Amino acid sequence: MNDLLSPSDNMWRLMRELYPICRSITGDGVRKTLAILGRDMPLVHHRFPSGTQCYDWEVPFEWNIDGALLRYEDGTVIANFEHHNLHVLGYSLPVDGWFTLDELRTHLFSLPEQPDIIPYVTSYYRSEWGFCLSHRAKEALKPGRYHARIDSRFSPGELVLGEAFLPGRTEREILISCYICHPSMANDSLSGVVLAAELYRELSKRSHLFSYRFCFLPETIGAIAYLSRFGQRLKKALHAGLVVTCVGDSGRIHYKQTRCGNHLLDRVVANVLRHGKWPHEIRGFRPLGSDERQYCSPGFDMPVGSLMRSVYGEFPEYHTSADNLDFVNASALEESFHVYMEVLRALEGNQTCRTTVPFCEPQMGRRGLYPMVGDKAEKSALIQRYMWILNLSDGNNSFLDIAERMDDGLLAVIEAADNLIRAGLLEEVKEVQHE
Ligand code: ZN
Repeated sequence: MNDLLSPSDNMWRLMRELYPICRSITGDGVRKTLAILGRDMPLVHHRFPSGTQCYDWEVPFEWNIDGALLRYEDGTVIANFEHHNLHVLGYSLPVDGWFTLDELRTHLFSLPEQPDIIPYVTSYYRSEWGFCLSHRAKEALKPGRYHARIDSRFSPGELVLGEAFLPGRTEREILISCYICHPSMANDSLSGVVLAAELYRELSKRSHLFSYRFCFLPETIGAIAYLSRFGQRLKKALHAGLVVTCVGDSGRIHYKQTRCGNHLLDRVVANVLRHGKWPHEIRGFRPLGSDERQYCSPGFDMPVGSLMRSVYGEFPEYHTSADNLDFVNASALEESFHVYMEVLRALEGNQTCRTTVPFCEPQMGRRGLYPMVGDKAEKSALIQRYMWILNLSDGNNSFLDIAERMDDGLLAVIEAADNLIRAGLLEEVKEVQHE
């Protein structure tokens, strides 16, 4: 990524480069994706050999595919992996043989309700071969014989995931987690990957309080493998975490809360969204969805939420060939990036302070704190903020507590408090808020 380009240019370029790659939970697609991401950040690769036990799961054999073709007896091509990698059932067994239409049918996957698009179907843990195609193409199949060939390979290999770490002024960590196991789909999975990469680029340029841990892993088995090795350490250090996905479409913002539902992260995100005036909806935690399922499993119960636009499973393009580069756009990605940055800025700036003038109000005018610029409403809002901050900063209320109490934006409170700190009216009592 280039420093001269805007966040949306960076994300869009990366999206276009990563989109065509056939990824799965293991195999060359994941390695290729990590190699591309590794150009812009020092990615550490964690490897888990096939057969490794990770809690209740076992790392499967590695799956790779060279090609797949389904043809009618007269040579007409019905489905070709080269045209779209979704044409092959993910983790399909290899096959090379002739089948009647009836024999073939149980190996064909389509969406009757969306007859023109190819579904994304996988069979990671059940041995199966198959092709995915549009329902219209499936319905048009004529009786006769078909030649099915899938050149896939299973071998003892590894599951590999990538991790990048940006140390901050404290060892308390913020986790940014995304998944790299989906083949050619743009919003689900990939939009989160490019946004995470952009967050890394942006944060690496500035000083920050928290340490940031970026995980690029195959969904579910990758997160489980990661947690089986690093989960206890992560839990100890974790201040808050976000699973990034579905951030490139034009839908409004959705935030899925942490398991606890009232964690500092939930309050910060709610405040930033509400006062940032982004159309949004907040959803409670459900043990369904993406890797927050693992981070929020009861043994870990980590404060991990998920900030997305349209919710996976709820938009018609989800898990189909219609989740493509036309479905996402650079300005939606850029807006999502700004929402993430604001949430991180709010988490970083949320301190607890104590006024240095606790007996009666300090005299603001002689400290130049009365605003000279801005309209009347803005000036009055700023003065109110100063008064609230100075009154409630008794060492027990964080800026978030104050923002909530006065129904104001946390970022605006942080900005006003910075002026008070510079004027010597506030002093920090602790750097990091704990729950
Ligand atoms: Zn998905």
